[in-house]
Amino acid sequence: MKILCYHGVINNRRKGIENFSKKHIEKKTFIKQIKYLKKNTNIISIDDVYNNIKNKIKFKKNSVCITFDDGFENNFTVAAPILKKYNIPAIFYLCPDSISKKLFFWVDIIEICIANTKKKSIFINKNKKNTKYFLTNIQRKKKAILNIKNYCKSITDDKKNLIVNSIIFQSGVNYKKFINENIYKPASWSQINKCIKSKIFSIGGHSLNHSLLTNKTNLGAQIDILKTIRIIKKKTKIRVKHFSYPEGRYNESIIQFMKKNKIVSCPTATSGINSEHTDLFKLKRYMVGFQGIRFPFQP
Ligand SMILES: [Zn+2]
Repeated sequence: MKILCYHGVINNRRKGIENFSKKHIEKKTFIKQIKYLKKNTNIISIDDVYNNIKNKIKFKKNSVCITFDDGFENNFTVAAPILKKYNIPAIFYLCPDSISKKLFFWVDIIEICIANTKKKSIFINKNKKNTKYFLTNIQRKKKAILNIKNYCKSITDDKKNLIVNSIIFQSGVNYKKFINENIYKPASWSQINKCIKSKIFSIGGHSLNHSLLTNKTNLGAQIDILKTIRIIKKKTKIRVKHFSYPEGRYNESIIQFMKKNKIVSCPTATSGINSEHTDLFKLKRYMVGFQGIRFPFQP
């Protein structure tokens, strides 16, 4: 059984540096993939995934489950109508703070600031030493974005926030004005509530605003998970049972805390095939399109 992870579906391909990691795929590509899946695979819901693994029931041949991370508006305005047309179940993992407060994810702030800055270079303070990044052409900017994002994933959440603030300051870019762009705009609760009236769709948690749970203190991670569950319950009346770790990063104490709070499944960000014996808290997933990861089927 394969689980696919999408982040966004957009009407037109974007030019420039933004979305170069292909987090959001084009609508025509998505339709092609959905048509293929409908014709050639057995599409199941995340609850089916849970039931099969819990009861050790072998998955039918070519079983596939569709998931969406992050809760961008385009999930509900572009992707969901297509899924509905073909009657295909999907789960949307949400970051409630980004939805309620219209916040950007930190990775997107880095991308926007570096893509749009006119500065020739910026400094990042790494272990009290300044590293200089030249931003004089598109290749250098892309390299800087990737490198800084990766570095930020290796440090504590507090240190990461300092670096993001320093990039905002040095770049001189007013990133907030990009909030309505289709690759950054979070969904609204009313869009989500309207969508989940359809029984084929469900929702799950994905942390408050996409900070890595593993880079927080244990208590910090626990508060984030609890608030995520609580806010989604308050806004949608749904008590989430499924939770996607931001960036697929987890540890044993996070898994234990999920179990304690009635979460029954958590997908990761590692490609691979699942069986009835796979750990429900370490489900493998293909991030379709992202950084060149291919749609794991024929076309
Ligand atoms: Zn995510």
